[in-house]
Amino acid sequence: MTIGIVGAGQLGQMLALAGYPLGFDFLFVDRSAEVPAARIAPVLTGELNDPALLGELARRSDVISIDWENVDVAALARAARDTRLAPPLRAVAVAQDRLSEKKAFVKLSIPTTRYDAVDDRAGLERAVTRIGLPGILKTRRLGYDGKGQQVLRSAADVDRAWDSLGKVPLLYEEFVPFDYEVSIIGARSRSGAVAIYPLNRNYHLDGILRLTLAPWAVPRLARIAAGHLRRVLEAFNYVGVLTIEYFVHRGRLIANEMAPRVHNSGHWTIEGAVTSQFENHVRAIAGLPLGDPSARGHSAMINLIGTVPKPDRFLRESGVHWHDYGKEPRKGRKLGHCTLVEQSAVRRNIGVRRLLAGLYPQLPLKP
Ligand code: AMP
Repeated sequence: MTIGIVGAGQLGQMLALAGYPLGFDFLFVDRSAEVPAARIAPVLTGELNDPALLGELARRSDVISIDWENVDVAALARAARDTRLAPPLRAVAVAQDRLSEKKAFVKLSIPTTRYDAVDDRAGLERAVTRIGLPGILKTRRLGYDGKGQQVLRSAADVDRAWDSLGKVPLLYEEFVPFDYEVSIIGARSRSGAVAIYPLNRNYHLDGILRLTLAPWAVPRLARIAAGHLRRVLEAFNYVGVLTIEYFVHRGRLIANEMAPRVHNSGHWTIEGAVTSQFENHVRAIAGLPLGDPSARGHSAMINLIGTVPKPDRFLRESGVHWHDYGKEPRKGRKLGHCTLVEQSAVRRNIGVRRLLAGLYPQLPLKP
């Protein structure tokens, strides 16, 4: 069986690494051949929205999936005529647009930030009046890692935010003075079985994920988030892995966004869970039973951003695993990650402080 994947970044690479032991072949499409998955699988190169390219991927694959959710939905729909697509197109379309994502959360009774769609300058004024300040103006499409966002703290910021983002459809939402951020990841199989991972606690700097601790043992939040995830998976008749990211504010979960794919905050599952998110995505889309998502211990995942340090200092520690995606260094770019798995949360917390020292000394680890 050949699994075709649109996007050949590190997520695609880790999907293939998880799928080879199960006997699957992989074929990717991406803009360039200098991409992480190209080190281990063939890549068809060209524009990701090119119908001919996606058509070829579909013809040569038994199922197609994505490692990047912003693929043109019409092009994906055409490709899906020739093969099976997992996750379903509707879930990809909703997750591409922050407005439809918010509407989906509201429809499924999942608490989310208060928001207004903004189509013009007067609309922004109305939204600021209704939602209040501070708030965040975000592009509805193609935003990630804090890109395409402007925080508005006072009325004087309206002009600046409009000038920098005002050319595309936008969304204005309340600024949540959150206590911390978490995410939940789960998989749904073709037969409708669901496997949900423990909650992840996520630490961002400059809008980019730096550190995940898992399991984040707050049973009440884990139970509520798992309920939300199940509702989303069922509503879309979903097949594959899906992620919801949240703010935690005064003990409440407020959904920020969803990703119809494996997620950076789940990288720890490669060594830290019985079955990784990557293997479960492959199992789900291939029609196999899902694996156990339980944690094997207490994990920390640290992203390597902008530069990759020499691994020696890290690998001298027992329980540390190193992943270098082989990408060209660039400011703000995710180049790799390392995972620490320990048998107790106390040992994990001591270990992660040591590992973080040379990387992100500014990260406050206290909740
Ligand atoms: P996003 O691209 O929506 O995932 O946003 C990236 C990061 O910006 C989030 O992980 C938060 O740290 C921050 N952020 C986004 N939206 C809000 C909000 N409404 N209130 C406070 N912080 C936010």
